[in-house]
Amino acid sequence: MARPAFPVPAPCPEREGRATGKGHIAAAGTINYALIVTHQQHKAIMSALIFPVPEPACGGRRPGNARPAGPECRRGADSGPAVTWAGAPPGSPHNRPRILPVFLPFAGCPTRCVFCAQDVQTGQRGGTATVVRALAQAETRLEHEARQMDGARDIGGTPEPGKSPAPLEIAFYGGTFTLLPEAERAACLDLARRWLQRGVICRVRCSTRPDAVTERDLAGLRAAGMDCVELGVQSFDDAALSASGRGYAGEAARAACAMVAGAGLELGVQLMPGMPGVTPEVFRADVRTALLPDTGGTPPLAAFLRFYPCLVLRGTPLAERWRAGDYAPWLLETTVDALAGGLLAAWARGVAVVRMGLSPEDGLDDAVLAGPVHPALGQLAKAEALRRHVAAHVARLPGPPARFGVPRRLRGLLWGHANGLVDAYAAMGITRAMVHWRDDDNFSLE
Ligand code: SF4
Repeated sequence: MARPAFPVPAPCPEREGRATGKGHIAAAGTINYALIVTHQQHKAIMSALIFPVPEPACGGRRPGNARPAGPECRRGADSGPAVTWAGAPPGSPHNRPRILPVFLPFAGCPTRCVFCAQDVQTGQRGGTATVVRALAQAETRLEHEARQMDGARDIGGTPEPGKSPAPLEIAFYGGTFTLLPEAERAACLDLARRWLQRGVICRVRCSTRPDAVTERDLAGLRAAGMDCVELGVQSFDDAALSASGRGYAGEAARAACAMVAGAGLELGVQLMPGMPGVTPEVFRADVRTALLPDTGGTPPLAAFLRFYPCLVLRGTPLAERWRAGDYAPWLLETTVDALAGGLLAAWARGVAVVRMGLSPEDGLDDAVLAGPVHPALGQLAKAEALRRHVAAHVARLPGPPARFGVPRRLRGLLWGHANGLVDAYAAMGITRAMVHWRDDDNFSLE
């Protein structure tokens, strides 16, 4: 007998980083059970798995992780799942801004953190002219983008549908933005303001340290047009923060998160599994803390997380510790296991993990001396998280599974990297022969 289908509301693109333009209510009679415990869980896991890098829509600034009540995210009145985005057709990739990173390696940083090699991580040189050079490069790129956009307008000056490139979100990364010298910070914000006015960029974000924010500074950033602040928290654990010489305690990191969200800025939290002092248990606790509050249906303060497993990079103080035998990075297996757990915890709260592992910038491979490096680290973790999600629901079935429906869009993920999870699925009674690919976003298990 078919059990009732669970209607799954379409995710809000502001939160989930996409617009589908169609509902996700399973058709009447669809056998669609057992794998979905709650709408929230299902929605989260689907959106995060399919859209691992959700980026908000332009104009979608909001306090903390609260859903916007405005027109950026509209739901249908009765059937619920219809989602549209203001100013563009539903489902259009042109809704989602492209990130224009402006790397400012070590700019504003009060110390050189033990694990950090921003010059390698960003592929950019640091030095005294860092900000000037980075802004000049950004101007050049933005001029180019403006020409592209102008070229995509019709004779009346209106953007031609499908031709105009998506707007950009400018992101000041790689240093401590809030501790930049006043003139440099003003130059960055001025660049952002000018290109916001010209409509070439639509959002602004920066990254900084938890101990480098004050309510006054954050209010100033917000007033200057900043939409999002990413905090390089790394850990909330006092002992780990001390072992890594971060220079602040967990309470300061928690307070900084609250300050960012309280200033009406979107909050991104960066965590570093495997940092000195961060064990898998500590990382689990860090993820839980990053997802606070967790009471009464209140959304977490953080809109998104990033997980950067700690690597030993050439030229860092950590490399010296590693050579001296005072530090050992996590194994890849430990890392994938921890990341998968972190993903499930985040998805269960509707929070996306937008990055796992450093970006493969030029020169990174040569700079990695040790640590859990894998070209498909994110895929490994997501596939393992999906396997655990499936296993939890298979365990609730009254008997062995006979047929397993999986969204077609997860085809490349289900069996794991290089089919590494085929045996694990077989152990839970799921073989290739019983899998069928669905064209909607629902799983089904019978
Ligand atoms: S504050 Fe951030 S960017 Fe600066 S050295 Fe430390 S980790 Fe690197």
